[in-house]
Amino acid sequence: MFAAVGVRGHPHPRCACYISPEFTQQALDALRQPLESGSVLIARANHHVTYPARILLAAAMNPCRCGGGPGAGFCRRGPRCATEYQARLSGPLLDRIDIQLDVPPVTAADLALPPPVEGTAEAAARVMRARAAQSARGAGLNAVLSLDALERVAKPDAPGAALLSKAAETLSLSARAYHRTLKVARSIADLDGAEALRRIHIAEALSLKRQWAGAEQGGFAKVS
Ligand SMILES: [Zn+2]
Repeated sequence: MFAAVGVRGHPHPRCACYISPEFTQQALDALRQPLESGSVLIARANHHVTYPARILLAAAMNPCRCGGGPGAGFCRRGPRCATEYQARLSGPLLDRIDIQLDVPPVTAADLALPPPVEGTAEAAARVMRARAAQSARGAGLNAVLSLDALERVAKPDAPGAALLSKAAETLSLSARAYHRTLKVARSIADLDGAEALRRIHIAEALSLKRQWAGAEQGGFAKVS
């Protein structure tokens, strides 16, 4: 499952996911169980019902309640506004969200830029090739790999293993975060068409967690 958190300038202001921190903390933390198990248990009086809930969660939020966040000209309350607002998402919930990115507002200069080299159709084709590569391994898509299968298909090279080991120690990664990082790195390698899982893939996966990026000097994204 993947999601983007900390999005500025959400392009779809009427999208329901826009208001995620406005839900109660109890409602937000109720997402933890289905995100973890792929099923949701509803208990009422003497009845318990379990429904399948293997989902891809995509969520977006503003940096603070004011909208633009500190420094963007919208927030008059200062850094504390963003700190309090973002704290409404608990650490255990964030631990279950594999990709977290800050997305800066689109500027007028951005609008004048030429279109990206890889368009939507080309990106979609690359995603389909990556999914086909995962299916061909016979262990299922990366998101649902068992630990045994993960060890088999997402074994990083020695530099990659060393980087992940160091990051696990430096960032005090949970076992869940460690294994999820390997899955994201495996998907990055698949999107690159690479059979081997290398250090650069591990570095990029680590850089896609907002609270981890920059934890090392220069950030993991710059590690090659
Ligand atoms: Zn604010």
